[in-house]
Amino acid sequence: MTQLHDISREKSAELFDKAKNYFPGGVNSPVRAFKSVYGTPLFIERGDKARIWDADGNEFIDYCCSWGPLILGHNNDQIREAVAAQLYKGLSFGAPTRLENELAELILSRNSYIEMIRFVSSGTEAVMSAIRLARGFTKRDKIVKFDGCYHGHSDSLLVKAGSGLVTFGETSSAGVPKAFADETIVISLNDKEALVEVFTSFPNEIAAVIIEGIPANNGLLIQDSEYIHFLRQLTAQHGTLLIFDEVITGFRLGFEGAAGYYGVQPDIITYGKIIGGGMPVGAYGASKALMKYISPDGGVYQAGTLSGNPVAMAAGIAALEILVQPDFYTKQEETTKRFVETIRRYIAEKGYEVQLFTVGSIFWFAFTTQSSIKRADDIDPRSMENYKIMHRALLNQGIYFGPSGYEVGFISSAHTESDLDTTVAAVKIALDIVF
Ligand code: PLP
Repeated sequence: MTQLHDISREKSAELFDKAKNYFPGGVNSPVRAFKSVYGTPLFIERGDKARIWDADGNEFIDYCCSWGPLILGHNNDQIREAVAAQLYKGLSFGAPTRLENELAELILSRNSYIEMIRFVSSGTEAVMSAIRLARGFTKRDKIVKFDGCYHGHSDSLLVKAGSGLVTFGETSSAGVPKAFADETIVISLNDKEALVEVFTSFPNEIAAVIIEGIPANNGLLIQDSEYIHFLRQLTAQHGTLLIFDEVITGFRLGFEGAAGYYGVQPDIITYGKIIGGGMPVGAYGASKALMKYISPDGGVYQAGTLSGNPVAMAAGIAALEILVQPDFYTKQEETTKRFVETIRRYIAEKGYEVQLFTVGSIFWFAFTTQSSIKRADDIDPRSMENYKIMHRALLNQGIYFGPSGYEVGFISSAHTESDLDTTVAAVKIALDIVF
């Protein structure tokens, strides 16, 4: 059995101790605290291409990619130059700019699922605004979400499922008023009966059903195409809007995201992450007929001091201009497929109880014998112990995965064949250690 030495984390530990005085739990977003894996969180100093370096000088091949936005890797030349050029012209005006038009044109001319867009500053804001639009348009209050789908941290969406086929949400955060949670109904993914039941129980009351394009926040729960089409049909039948939250899948599964992947026309689509090239951006889009309900022309209010921020727009344009190049996504998928299949062959050869699920350039290790997982409650929480062991063994070999077994991994166009070969070798050793 290979023995691995733990990486040095002295400087990261020092910084973390300081950070604990300033921020709750020492972080500005909870999962960064490494609560679900071993050791102190690593404080990152810089990134270049597929690599990042921490405060102790450790070098890693990065598969977290800032939780998805960095589809072109770190320190991309075109994005950096576009951002630098904008820095000399101004950081923010709070007034319209040509750059907003350019990013919108780039998106709308190549994405047949939306006709109009509104830029905001985060995925949370995009989803919150989409829900308000759905409620304003339908004049209904209830929304349906799925157990295991994350849509940011706004009140109505921090609700999880209880037991039973259809449950009123129980909040998964203190501070969410019960009255808000009562308007959110949570059901299981990939369950047609639950969907039918929810519409039977609340006819003419549901404003929107929201689903992640491909759920990727609680493992990678790839839904059957038939189910997604059924969901579309049923929502249309009941005058309920279908919202695809494509904060992760937008511009990752092709330029038209999960809508294009399934060939399904949602009523509203939300975006974030990749659309800003690594800068804080979110967006929501729909038909012109629906978007006219948004202020200033319509009665659904939504605004933002930094919305459409010129530096973020410049980064987004530079990123998307690369993504529209022919074969960008085909290459990404082929690379990911080779990586995944090499690891799957090793797993099969060894008979290890672990699966590697994938779609586009997203992957997820699940410690299970089930060949497919489509619902959050099909994941055995005990398997997360194995992820912890794997995560530590990978860090010790210079491979950085997200610090929780529920998080997916991302491959960027900056990952070279040699980076991936190095990673495959490290994953084999990590799995040998787990098993
Ligand atoms: N929706 C999805 C599907 C997400 O994955 C996330 C964040 O991970 C969000 C919404 C919230 O985005 P943000 O963290 O930018 O607010």
